[in-house]
Amino acid sequence: MKKFRIILLLSLIPMLSFGQLYTRKEIKIPDIPGYLTLKCDLHMHTIFSDGNVWPTVRADEAWREGLDVFAISDHVEYQPHHKDVTTGIGRSYEIAKPRADELGLMIIKAAEITRDMPPGHFNVLFLDSISALDKDDFWEAIQAAVDQDAFIFWNHPGWRQPDEIPIWYDEHTRLFDEGNMHGMEIVNERSYYPLAHQWCLERNITMLGNSDIHDPTGMFVDFAAGQHRAITLVFAEKFTEESVKKALEKGRTAVYYNDMLIGNQEFLKPIFEKSVFIASRSVKLGPGETFNLQVTNHSDVPFMLEAAEGEKDIFYQDNVTLYPGRTSIIRIRSKKIAEPGIHTYTLQYVVSNLLVGVETGLPVELKFKAEITE
Ligand SMILES: [Zn+2]
Ligand SMILES: [Zn+2]
Repeated sequence: MKKFRIILLLSLIPMLSFGQLYTRKEIKIPDIPGYLTLKCDLHMHTIFSDGNVWPTVRADEAWREGLDVFAISDHVEYQPHHKDVTTGIGRSYEIAKPRADELGLMIIKAAEITRDMPPGHFNVLFLDSISALDKDDFWEAIQAAVDQDAFIFWNHPGWRQPDEIPIWYDEHTRLFDEGNMHGMEIVNERSYYPLAHQWCLERNITMLGNSDIHDPTGMFVDFAAGQHRAITLVFAEKFTEESVKKALEKGRTAVYYNDMLIGNQEFLKPIFEKSVFIASRSVKLGPGETFNLQVTNHSDVPFMLEAAEGEKDIFYQDNVTLYPGRTSIIRIRSKKIAEPGIHTYTLQYVVSNLLVGVETGLPVELKFKAEITE
């Protein structure tokens, strides 16, 4: 019996050590009304193109870093490891899929069409056949993607351009006019392209931000310093491939890049509102007195507030950073002329690191009740 118990205990060891080695760090960015906020990286490579990791590692990394959805997008036309890895493109998805399933992650079948600029590189998502994209002619490759009802986006439009400023060529006009430029990376790896951001806003193109990681993510991102890889937030009705596809097609995305969120106001505003709470239980102060208003930020994103318009009865601090996972203080002072009684005040700020346009921060309001005493 004792021997049996020892054997039983020993048999548990691999399982226990697995549990200790693997922990997931959730990305704390809340869901918004009507939609799940899915954390997605839709551009990365493995040894099946010019990456340096085995496909299952991409699933492990995605899980550990708090992602919900990922796409391995190996180059269709470029496989420098082909002498060692001979089974070809598309195999990376097949190898990573069981691992993704085991971890409860969604993996989207994808590839990168890789041509010199113009037209440049394009990621294609929701494929049935990757090999169908293997055409000499770029337009035939795009047609093969269109035939599969794929989602097509322009990758790193500023890459290898002077000062990383993207150039819109005739090829892009054709793609766009034919309805085949569904999205664009406004962030790739460590680069943000403001001009691409502008194009997405003007032409209603879905905004994406992805890691385009080739090495193990730990070689590229300093997790200990609180860094994270660039990702796309997808606002989906459900955790299904169909819902993710619909959200991408409808432009329901935002980009999480360094300490910034970039996206439309309709998505960034509810993220802010669901993250930030007034922590002070009651606010009481006499005319001309100051008060420390305590405000908690439950998200992983710092919010850098710059005062917009003033409140007529109170003064309040111009610049405040609401640090992630912490409670910060906003100094307020009632004006000498403030009327005694209970009032609702609205502090108006612009969040400078939540970009709703190029160099345009998100306007927000913080409301609280205060009693002005005699
Ligand atoms: Zn590329
Ligand atoms: Zn790439």
